[in-house]
Amino acid sequence: MARQDFRERLASGRPLLLDGAMGSELQRRGVYVSHGATEEKLGAWSATAMRDAPGTVRDVHEDYFKAGADIATTNSFWTNAIKLGLVGLADKAAAYTRLSGEIAVEARDRLRPEAYVAGGMAPPHGGRAPVDPIDLPREFAMQAHALKEGGVDLLLVEYIGHVEDIVAAVDAVAPAGLPIMIGLRHITDGGDMQNGDSFERLVGALGSRTVDAILLMCSSPAAISAGLPKLRRAFPGPIGAYPNIGYARAATPLAGEQQWHSLDTTSYTPDLMAEDGRAWLAMGAQIVGGCCATTPDHIAALRAIMPTG
Ligand SMILES: [Zn+2]
Repeated sequence: MARQDFRERLASGRPLLLDGAMGSELQRRGVYVSHGATEEKLGAWSATAMRDAPGTVRDVHEDYFKAGADIATTNSFWTNAIKLGLVGLADKAAAYTRLSGEIAVEARDRLRPEAYVAGGMAPPHGGRAPVDPIDLPREFAMQAHALKEGGVDLLLVEYIGHVEDIVAAVDAVAPAGLPIMIGLRHITDGGDMQNGDSFERLVGALGSRTVDAILLMCSSPAAISAGLPKLRRAFPGPIGAYPNIGYARAATPLAGEQQWHSLDTTSYTPDLMAEDGRAWLAMGAQIVGGCCATTPDHIAALRAIMPTG
C-alpha cells in the first residue's frame, strides 16, 4: 500500500497506532542507557544507544512495526549537543540524530511501507524549569533539520510542558516544513498540564501556528483519562495519548553500571492497555500508543482494538 500524505491521513479521521517505548525497551534488552547520569539527573539516556547499539534500536523499530504500529518515533529523544555533551559526544549530535531517522525509515520501508516515521525530540535540559529560550530553540532546529535529512515524515516534539517552551519549539522546528505533533508530558492527576496550566492557555499561545496534533504522554493512564476530555474541549485538531506505565527512579545511590530507572513492564498488562485504549478512542483520541515501559506486546494489544478500514 502506498503511503498517504500524513496530513491527509490525519484529516481522514481514521485512528493511527503510535509505537511504544524506545529507551526503556533498550534497557529491557540490555542496553545501558544511564551514561552521564548523576544522583539527580538522568544523563544522556537513550542518545548513547546511537553509538552503542544502533542494531538494537533497529530491532525495536522492527518489533513495533511487526506489532502493527502506524507511526514509529526515532531514537532521537535527547540526541542533542547538551545531553550528548554530558558524555563528551556533543559533536555527534547532528550525526546521531540523522542516523536515528535513517534507521527507522529503513525498517519502515522493509516491514510496513504504509507507516510513518516521526522524528522525536525533547527539551535538552529536561524541561522541568525554568523555561529555556536559548538552548531549546537551537537544539530543536538542529534536530528538525537532521531528522528531515534522515527522511522522517513528521516531527514529534515531546516530553515538553511549559507553554513558552512549546511555542518556542514550534517556531524552531517549523522551518523544516514537516507536520508537527506535540507530546505534552506529566499531565496532573486532575488532567491539566504539568504546572497546572490549562490546555486553553496553550492553544491561545500557539495562535495561528500550525500544530497538526496534540498528544498527552509520559503520564499515568489515569492522568491521561482525566486530561483527554479537557484537551478535546480546548483543541479542535487531532489529539492522542501515549502513557507511561511503570518507570521509576531506581534506588539510590547509583552503583556501578546500575540503570537510573527501575523498570516495571508487568503490572500494567497489554489487556489493561487495550481497555484504556478503547476508552481514549471514545474520548476522541485519534492517535494512541505507549511511552515509558510499554513493549511490543502492549502495541499489539492496542492494534487488536483499533478500528480498521
Ligand atoms: Zn515516558
